[in-house]
Amino acid sequence: MTHVDHEEFARRWAEAVVGTSYVPIGRRVLARHLLGLTDRLVEAAVAVEFDPSVGRQVGVDMVAAHFTGTETLRETLALIADGLPGLLGSAPPGVDAAGRVAQLVASMAAGYAGALRERSLDEQDAIYRAGLRARRQAEQALAASEAKFRAMFTEAAIGIGMSDLEGNITEANPALLRMFGYTLEEFTRLNVVRSMIHPEDAASVWETYGELIRGERDHFRMEKRYYRADGGEIWTDLTVSLVREEDGAPAYQVALLEDISERRRLQDKLEYQAFHDPLTGLANRARVTERLGQIFAGPAGQRRVGVCFLDLDGFKVVNDSLGHDVGDQLLKTVASRLTRCCGAGQLLARMGGDEFVIVVEDTAGEADVAALAEKVLTAMAEPIRVGDHELNVTTSIGVVERPVVDTNPEDLLQAADITMYRAKADGKARYAMYDQNRNEREVARFTLSATMVAAVERGEFFLVYQPLASLADRSLRGVEALVRWRHPTLGVLGPDRFIDLAAESGAIVQLGRWVLARACEQVRAWREAFGDAAPFVSVNLAPRQLHESALVADVTKVLLDNGLDPSSLQLELTEQALMGDETGPLTVLTKLHGMGVRIALDDFGTGYWNLPDLRRLPLHELKLAGSFALGLQSSSTLVDQRIVAALVDMAHALELTVTAEGIETPTQLDRFRAVGCDTGQGALFGLPGGAERIDTSLRAASPLCDVSGEAL
Ligand code: C2E
Ligand code: MG
Ligand code: MG
Repeated sequence: MTHVDHEEFARRWAEAVVGTSYVPIGRRVLARHLLGLTDRLVEAAVAVEFDPSVGRQVGVDMVAAHFTGTETLRETLALIADGLPGLLGSAPPGVDAAGRVAQLVASMAAGYAGALRERSLDEQDAIYRAGLRARRQAEQALAASEAKFRAMFTEAAIGIGMSDLEGNITEANPALLRMFGYTLEEFTRLNVVRSMIHPEDAASVWETYGELIRGERDHFRMEKRYYRADGGEIWTDLTVSLVREEDGAPAYQVALLEDISERRRLQDKLEYQAFHDPLTGLANRARVTERLGQIFAGPAGQRRVGVCFLDLDGFKVVNDSLGHDVGDQLLKTVASRLTRCCGAGQLLARMGGDEFVIVVEDTAGEADVAALAEKVLTAMAEPIRVGDHELNVTTSIGVVERPVVDTNPEDLLQAADITMYRAKADGKARYAMYDQNRNEREVARFTLSATMVAAVERGEFFLVYQPLASLADRSLRGVEALVRWRHPTLGVLGPDRFIDLAAESGAIVQLGRWVLARACEQVRAWREAFGDAAPFVSVNLAPRQLHESALVADVTKVLLDNGLDPSSLQLELTEQALMGDETGPLTVLTKLHGMGVRIALDDFGTGYWNLPDLRRLPLHELKLAGSFALGLQSSSTLVDQRIVAALVDMAHALELTVTAEGIETPTQLDRFRAVGCDTGQGALFGLPGGAERIDTSLRAASPLCDVSGEAL
């Protein structure tokens, strides 16, 4: 038998196998493998010692080589049974080769079947094992994700809780328990709906919750308050989500709660600060504005509203003399007294400084608010102790009460404010009721005051001049400059209408500067036209102007600008300007006096000075108020004449000249002249008028009136 025969056999075998099994190797490799098996079978068949197990091993080998198709064994066995004997050649003596082949085929079949059985068992086992492994892995993954979830649930800083659809709490994480101060056991006995209500929950909270439970929404988020186990309150940012079954039916709810109490506290604090006065803890102006806004925004109908506007009397004195700490204490005590006076429907606020307001809602008439004002006055009547000081602090109150439809918040407060000033003007420590007519006048005054500075700039003011006559020869010596306002709508206004306002608002500074400049310009014009016959000009100074350090500079400049000798100018000031302890005004006056400017004390006799006091003052002249002229008119009043005589004597002793104001009749002229009075002013010599009237007198160069009192 040749090797070629073996190869040929192996090739045929390979073809048979390839047709029946899936063999994952190439044909040549397969043929080589089968050639090996062929050789082993031939060897066994012709061996001296016959070993039938070779057949079994070849069967096992075939299975191992994946020749496991259903036809493979049959084809293989047939091929071997047919072909193998042809390969054996001459068998050794005594060997039954054909019998051996049959045995080998049988044992091959047995080996093959055994191996195949084992192999499928192995495969099943592997599948089973793989299944097992896969399940284990899935279980592990699930456990891992659950563990992750658990860890998150336990470690989360945010509170997480779950409950069933009835609201019974089933789970709560440690953060949630800490937040509420319960143990898990206590917490899971609670019910979301029954135990978690806060009395101030908006109705919408539980409506929204109902929608979630019914499956009408999947989640909601809101800020909600809860009570803790210890009764304290917490604010939370709450998000509740609905978890559904696979079929979409609501299953349970998960709530996430973040403790936002700190933020809410801060928010509340800021809100509180915005609407409260830090010193007294009362509401502030913003709160009043807001409240009035609400009252006026609502349906007006028959509603009425009242306001008490309070201002402490003389608080500034307390503050300035005893210091701000005492002032603050005083305000606090006042605040607590006022608080006791107020009840429901009344808002007490500090508007600033020493101003307080009480807004009274739904009043029945003026009497309601007046009664409250009375109550406040009584409460304030008791002296207030601050440290060692016992302070008598009174209050002035403006009361306004009216139907809501008739007014608005701004007007209401302004009317109350103005009315309060009336209470002050009427003597303080009282209340005043709003008075429509008076209020309109006050408003007009305020408007006037506010427009004055602009009016100076627009040139709405002008000066008139009144002669100052020598009583000896009735000749013109000087003129007093008196200011007027040609108001665009109110006509010409006298100083009684606006000088006090100008002093209050400070506009007097601008106005006074203008008067001074205008008067000096006029004197220059007269000097240019009439030389030394020109009169000096007497200009009135408001007390406030003496407090302006610029006054000396202003006067110096205006004299220089007009090339005037200081003696061409006289400044009139009132006793009022020199009252008080301050040295400033006196210093200013001394400087002006030193410059040679004439200084006159105006309206003497209406104030508090007595003559000896005048010694301290740098004065040139005393102007006796018009009341003395009135006294001298009736012939019966000898007493008055003696008083005037004494005054003039003492003034002269102090080297002051004396001017009598308000001389209207020849009698007055005679009597003033008789007591030695130097100059006079009044209707008898001419009322205040335009500069051209003085021009006329200067041109005439004659007495201003004849002795019978006829003006010339
Ligand atoms: P005053 O300085 O005492 O001025 C005299 C006032 O008496 C003037 O009133 C004048 O018109 C008035 N008068 C003149 N003759 C008679 C008379 O025979 N009988 C009566 N009954 N009155 C007479 P006027 O112009 O209304 O000024 C009133 C006051 O206004 C002045 O009183 C003065 O204190 C103040 N005033 C006037 N102009 C100015 C000014 O430019 N600055 C300041 N600060 N005050 C001024
Ligand atoms: Mg005057
Ligand atoms: Mg006067």
